[in-house]
Amino acid sequence: MTQRVCLESASLARRTKHGWGMRAGRQTTLRSSVTLSGIGVHSGVPAALTLQPADPDTGIVFVRIGGDGRANQELRADVRSVYATDFATVLGDRAGPLCATAEHILAALCGLGVDNATIEIDGPEVPILDGSAEPFVEAIDRAGVVYTARPRRYLKVLKPVRVANGRSVGELRPYEFGFRVETEIDFDHPLIGRQTFAIDLDATTFRQGVARARTFGFMSDVAKLWSAGYALGANFDNTLVLAEDRVLNPDGLRFPDEFVRHKALDAIGDLALAGAPLLAAYHSVCGGHKLNHAVLSALMADRSAWTMVEASDSRRVRGRADLATGYPAPAFGPATS
Ligand SMILES: [Zn+2]
Repeated sequence: MTQRVCLESASLARRTKHGWGMRAGRQTTLRSSVTLSGIGVHSGVPAALTLQPADPDTGIVFVRIGGDGRANQELRADVRSVYATDFATVLGDRAGPLCATAEHILAALCGLGVDNATIEIDGPEVPILDGSAEPFVEAIDRAGVVYTARPRRYLKVLKPVRVANGRSVGELRPYEFGFRVETEIDFDHPLIGRQTFAIDLDATTFRQGVARARTFGFMSDVAKLWSAGYALGANFDNTLVLAEDRVLNPDGLRFPDEFVRHKALDAIGDLALAGAPLLAAYHSVCGGHKLNHAVLSALMADRSAWTMVEASDSRRVRGRADLATGYPAPAFGPATS
């Protein structure tokens, strides 16, 4: 595999008059392997996760390692690999679930523009770590990102696709400048209320505006979640926990609107299951993993709504387009997201 060390290609693309240079339109992978360990937020079960380089056109592949140290399940992260969307995005196939809570690591890979990687995991759930994507960003930075010789291919949305379920509404629409995510939430809670957030995704905007936003949940939902087998690993080190009128975490919020930013993080991870970087804008109102997956599924099912384009065909693409990759649960409501 031909690889060239890449700089932060978001800034590279911004400096390029016509959007991106030839190199920036190439697929990326990791330079080396990196391992993270921790418990799952829902299962409470520990797991070690190792990110590894992969060949061009591999995409993001999850591999489950069994107790004997051997791979016993493997799947490519795309819309067909979504097994469940209850409070988290669970990937799996006919053999059963491979791993739960895939969205934050997928968001980090997508946000930093990693097209190809293998994710080995020896437990049932991706470690929640601090509840955000920042630990994954730091791990990817330690591994390094390199360009390959192969042109990047984008999934370009050609016409709006919309899914509504009660007050939850999600829509993907054409957007020629890269991948834009717009999230809106409205919780009947004094610290949240109505919040809106929008980001034109590239490595810099992802790092600065999204990666650090943490998973959140409501103390009033805990007993119900626990009895249903969810949030068993949640604690103040990995989840923002809200009482009726305040945040219970001693250190408070990282952003005043951390909640809606985390919704954007989840949407980026869930939509990474398109299997290729998107040329699209995504608008979500009161959404969650289930809505994200429903919109992506509706898009993929309508063959007239999207097409694949190579980097050399898309000179007007900017932003994340230089460094990117290529998505969800019944989480139409609050609870952990
Ligand atoms: Zn999340």
